[in-house]
Amino acid sequence: MNFPNAPQLRGMEAFPPPIKAVHRARIVNPQGPNDCDYHEDGGLAVRADGTVAAVGDFTLLAVAFADRYEVIDETKHGERPTIIPGMNDLHVHWVQNEVRGRFRNSLMPWLEEHIWPEEHRYADAQLADARAQTFFDELARHGTTVAAVYSSVHESALRAAFQHAAGRMVIGNVIMTSDFPPYLKQDPEEALAMTDRFAEEFGGSYAVTPRFAPSCSAEVLKAAGRIAKQRNVWVQTHLSENHDGTEHDEVELVRRLFPDAKSYTDVYARAGLLGRHTIMAHVIHASDEELDVLAQTGTCVAHCPTSNEALGSGRMPVERIRERGILYALGSDVGAGPSLSMLHVMQAYNRVHAGHADVSETEALYRGTLAGAEILGVDRVAGNLNRDKEATFAVLGSPGTRAYANPNHLLAEIFAGSQADLEAIVRKTYIAGRRVF
Ligand SMILES: [Zn+2]
Repeated sequence: MNFPNAPQLRGMEAFPPPIKAVHRARIVNPQGPNDCDYHEDGGLAVRADGTVAAVGDFTLLAVAFADRYEVIDETKHGERPTIIPGMNDLHVHWVQNEVRGRFRNSLMPWLEEHIWPEEHRYADAQLADARAQTFFDELARHGTTVAAVYSSVHESALRAAFQHAAGRMVIGNVIMTSDFPPYLKQDPEEALAMTDRFAEEFGGSYAVTPRFAPSCSAEVLKAAGRIAKQRNVWVQTHLSENHDGTEHDEVELVRRLFPDAKSYTDVYARAGLLGRHTIMAHVIHASDEELDVLAQTGTCVAHCPTSNEALGSGRMPVERIRERGILYALGSDVGAGPSLSMLHVMQAYNRVHAGHADVSETEALYRGTLAGAEILGVDRVAGNLNRDKEATFAVLGSPGTRAYANPNHLLAEIFAGSQADLEAIVRKTYIAGRRVF
């Protein structure tokens, strides 16, 4: 029978969605540069809406969530895999993926021989679409879920990238209005109009991307800065990568092209391109004064140690960047970097700075996960596996089944692998609870 005046069900919308699954594995969950939670036999409880309900020791979670969940026991293949948060690649040229690893020992000749002709091909919309699908599938296969991405000068390539990107990504078409090289040269007005249109259309997922100072005049840089400010979007470009004293010296080239500017950094400062929404790649040969300007303006840095090694660009002075509190996170810089694996980049981070600055495995992991999310302002929902964030993570095949008292020891064994090992170590990738690889 029907009861009159039966109370309606109220307040259910305030209940969190039910648990969908608990993943059982080792869990390494970075909290800061030198702060990392570790669970040797961990559980990651994921809600049906793709957020994290809890992370901790599996046995405790099993009691807390008894009979309400499916256990996905990642250990069942005779090893004990490791869950880490989805990784960040804060500097990657997606249109160079097919020619990665073909570097020569200097920036300018490499650009002319390998990069310009390759990027030129992305005018072909069909090619761009097929390559974008491949590239973003590969990012997922490497566990990369947060990225700042450079596209070519072409509208078709940018649209293809936005169509296939998965995760928290910022993407921009490069602006190239000077003769580097003539066949990629854009009409300044058209290039700026396109940039403005995209900034309006893609908002916070878009980055105004003057390729680097030599690609643009001071006027174009200034107009680009204005668009970024008006549209409240990101800025990304390159700063002080090569200073090898040869005829191809990039820093010297900038000095010649912008005789009024005090420094390479000052070229961007004058254009209004510095600030908290700006990610400068490399920053290897900057003076103290330039670093002070980056710090004062809140400008962030994408650090790409594998690329810097490959092109013989030098070592980013991490100790001077840290001293000033400049935010920085890791990037692959593919195609100068040889691999999309951010684990490979983390490995290099520890190697190149050892003896110059205090680095550790857990710090490398932080620079490749949470630090990138912090820079892009998405750390409230991404970057690590804390409760209520998106359950975005990679499952790594770990070495053996032995127990580790300290996550540094576990990560050290993982980082000891070769480039090929690190490229094959990701077994699964999830974005907001959904498996994408
Ligand atoms: Zn680059």
